[in-house]
Amino acid sequence: MIPSNFDYQRAQSVDDALTKLAASGGTGKVIAGGHSLVPMMKLRLHEPTTLIDIARIGELSGIREQDGLIEIGANTVHHDVATSSLLRNNCPIIAETAGMIGDPQVRNRGTLGGSLAHADPAADYPAALLALDAQIQLQGPSGTREVAATDFFQGLFTVDLADNEIITAVRFTPVQVAAYAKLYQRASRFAIVGVAAALVINQGSMLRKPTIRSSRIGLTGAASHALRLTSVEEAVAGQAATAEAMAQAAQGAGAKIDDINADLHASEAYRRAMIQVFTTRALQGALARLPA
Ligand SMILES: Cc1cc2nc3c(=O)[nH]c(=O)nc-3n(C[C@H](O)[C@H](O)[C@H](O)COP(=O)(O)OP(=O)(O)OC[C@H]3O[C@@H](n4cnc5c(N)ncnc54)[C@H](O)[C@@H]3O)c2cc1C
Repeated sequence: MIPSNFDYQRAQSVDDALTKLAASGGTGKVIAGGHSLVPMMKLRLHEPTTLIDIARIGELSGIREQDGLIEIGANTVHHDVATSSLLRNNCPIIAETAGMIGDPQVRNRGTLGGSLAHADPAADYPAALLALDAQIQLQGPSGTREVAATDFFQGLFTVDLADNEIITAVRFTPVQVAAYAKLYQRASRFAIVGVAAALVINQGSMLRKPTIRSSRIGLTGAASHALRLTSVEEAVAGQAATAEAMAQAAQGAGAKIDDINADLHASEAYRRAMIQVFTTRALQGALARLPA
């Protein structure tokens, strides 16, 4: 339970962190909140020779809105996302998701970038970012690039992020009619099954009730990595915007996923059953955010 020896360096800027990463010759790692990396180091699942501390790089923190897009810096801690009035007013699902992560200690130290890079299959943010169709901003030695959330989460603890790159921010168009629902482990609060749903509504008229034009539904906790529930997205399209129609559309959610997790917290069969339950809750929670 004691990590291997390592050097510690504090980066002053993103460029400085990238220079230090390159200088470590592939054996260094950045550390932000340390809530996932330090346990991995104690178990010797990670043995970096150099830890590059990016936690105090100011340019990586903060939540802002520009040209209709919201940007959250990678170093922003979960507590700041959960309590942001900009997010609560304009895109409540992301604040709601952050507020459900772990406990106050975890939310005060853990960061958005750290959670995405670590890519725990039970992490909460991935589901919400899939539902928001978010773009993940990366910076490396050869410049910046942007990866859609749908392409970013690739496998168990595997994302589209090179060893010499840093996540700098996440950007998305705010969505009001969206919600996150999860069944969580009682000790850690990691998702056993977590579902985020974002809906686009065809507004009704005197003669026609509102219907669902389209949706994006992200699932986490249930499989090796977060993914979209495309069959439910198809089933929801065109349905009446009612709780009953949402429950109907969620029938069989996740039935086509063949790598459902099974562990001491939940069997495969239980997780499968809960995907349908929490998909219904997320869809109905999104509908509850429809302006009256
Ligand atoms: C008790 C406990 C309960 C938890 N419960 C939950 C939960 O309910 N839901 C949930 O989603 N999570 C949960 N977590 C995980 C928590 O959210 C972590 O904070 C998060 O996964 C990692 O963020 P971090 O800033 O601590 O990253 P670190 O531990 O510092 O780093 C994790 C990994 O990301 C890399 N990294 C960090 N920042 C960047 C960056 N900007 N660019 C590139 N790579 C980077 C590091 O090199 C490392 O590989 C829990 C953790 C603990 C300890």
